[in-house]
Amino acid sequence: MEFLTPFLFYSIYFFGVGACVGSFLNVVIYRVPKGESIVRPGSRCGSCGKPVKPWNNIPIVSYILLGGRCAKCGKKYSARYMAVEFITAVLFTACFVKFGLTVDAVIYMALTASLVAVTFIDLDHMIIPDSITLPGIPLGFLSSWFFLPTTPQDAFLAFLIGGGFFYLIAVLVPHGMGGGDIKLVAMLGAFLGLKAVFITIFLGSVIGSIGGGIGIAFAGKGRASKIPFGPYLVAGALIAVFWERELINLYLDIFVF
Ligand SMILES: [Zn+2]
Repeated sequence: MEFLTPFLFYSIYFFGVGACVGSFLNVVIYRVPKGESIVRPGSRCGSCGKPVKPWNNIPIVSYILLGGRCAKCGKKYSARYMAVEFITAVLFTACFVKFGLTVDAVIYMALTASLVAVTFIDLDHMIIPDSITLPGIPLGFLSSWFFLPTTPQDAFLAFLIGGGFFYLIAVLVPHGMGGGDIKLVAMLGAFLGLKAVFITIFLGSVIGSIGGGIGIAFAGKGRASKIPFGPYLVAGALIAVFWERELINLYLDIFVF
């Protein structure tokens, strides 16, 4: 077992934890917009209604073993369930690789998990639930107070300026920005601080413009305008979490020196 270094062990461990959290996020994504409990009842087949047995509910593994079908009725499930588990698993491993075995890493795992839920709920329903972003704001402040590289002052400024900026756009541009986007940016500010929230908004807008352009080119203007902004902000925020320092150095290299 010499090949199993602590680094490899924890990478695999957090991949597994992330896959399990991703499995729970599938429930959150499906039930929270409907106002249903995320605890009860347990997982059921959406087609035949039979409860999913625990041994058929192992993240990623069960989906592959059962060929993406219900063990009872054979109904094919969307590959998205496995994608959510896989994405969360990769993000958790990335948090460990980037931040090591620290409280910060665990906080970033919780943040990225909430962002995965936000992304898929926004894609499905064009809403970002307050039940995710509003509790996230005080949690972000507490995290930047006691852990994380940010200071409480920085977090509070980012919350005010990021959220305020989006609020202003929402007031000035009709249908330009949803209330959910404002609260999402406010939450990201509370966790990430001012520099990262600028990066988030900047990259989110750039990626959003590119995505919107591609959408118009392929789907026509009508459908493209229905693409929500939340997933782009999440993409910007994830890039900021993992590459904030590198991006700032790149910016300084290009524009300052
Ligand atoms: Zn079934």
